[in-house]
Amino acid sequence: MIAEVFSKVQLEALHQRPYTTPIVAVTGGKGGVGKSTVAVNITAALTALGYSVALVDTNVEAPNDNMLLSLSLDDRVYVQVAMPIVKTNLCTQCGDCIAACRRNALFLPPGQTPILMGECNGCKACINACPTGALLTGWMPVGETFRSESGELTLFTGVLQPGRAESTVIVQALKDRLAAEAARYDVIIVDTATGVHCTVIAALAGATCAYAVTEPTPVGMHDLERILELCRILAIPTQIVLNRSDLGGWQGRLGACEAGTEITLAASIPYDSVLLQSYIKGMPVTQMSPNSSSAHIFAGLAIRIEKECLE
Ligand code: SF4
Ligand code: SF4
Repeated sequence: MIAEVFSKVQLEALHQRPYTTPIVAVTGGKGGVGKSTVAVNITAALTALGYSVALVDTNVEAPNDNMLLSLSLDDRVYVQVAMPIVKTNLCTQCGDCIAACRRNALFLPPGQTPILMGECNGCKACINACPTGALLTGWMPVGETFRSESGELTLFTGVLQPGRAESTVIVQALKDRLAAEAARYDVIIVDTATGVHCTVIAALAGATCAYAVTEPTPVGMHDLERILELCRILAIPTQIVLNRSDLGGWQGRLGACEAGTEITLAASIPYDSVLLQSYIKGMPVTQMSPNSSSAHIFAGLAIRIEKECLE
């Protein structure tokens, strides 16, 4: 059963971090519901309140917060993972490395030395298991992290190299990079990928609270239930942000999500052409049209975060 995935000790280890700056996660079970729009606008609204904010774009397969903020990707750091390199003259074909690899990434053809065939995550278990020292450590580039600044906002962005599978490695590299300077920020906003997979779990690790963004459609409500379940499993207090709240007729289903839980609807954002224009322009609506109804909603969300997380 999914609820038994993490023990108490595992959860404590998952959420452990070397700084106390509050982390607010913006997440969602479904793509295209406006999660990044919510993340950048909350960030902009918090900076308008005078807070120093780090926004961390962990949607590493398709990061776009920089575009919604019209920021360039600066200060590149390459991310590499370890991979085994076989020194064939030392290999006795014992197969210990094959047995050690939990990802089945190594293949030992009869009468030959091991070859890398699958997705290697650089764990080095095979290298440590080799009794003859026939496996050396090589390095394979899998992506990059960036750091961009704009006033009181610092954007951290992770980018996975196309064709690679190490999304979680990039997220971890991004969080490690953030950790080195996390104490200088008042709050950290983490924009996660969509879904309930390991990359999202890595992004949610350490979160003080989360906002699950959705829309009132059958798919939106279905995927909301999945991300709320994940946040419950991870013991992260979560509220709902309903985007395009005047769309469809599934708002009533929210009641089922909230029933019997402490989950509440933090904000409803009706369709707003001004918000769409800000999205196209690459500028938070809170900056482009601070008197618009959408800007007021995000300003309200920022005040809510201030009261619930920052005081
Ligand atoms: S480094 Fe880890 S994942 Fe990669 S081949 Fe070795 S044991 Fe497998
Ligand atoms: S563990 Fe070392 S010696 Fe054994 S098959 Fe693998 S590389 Fe060769």
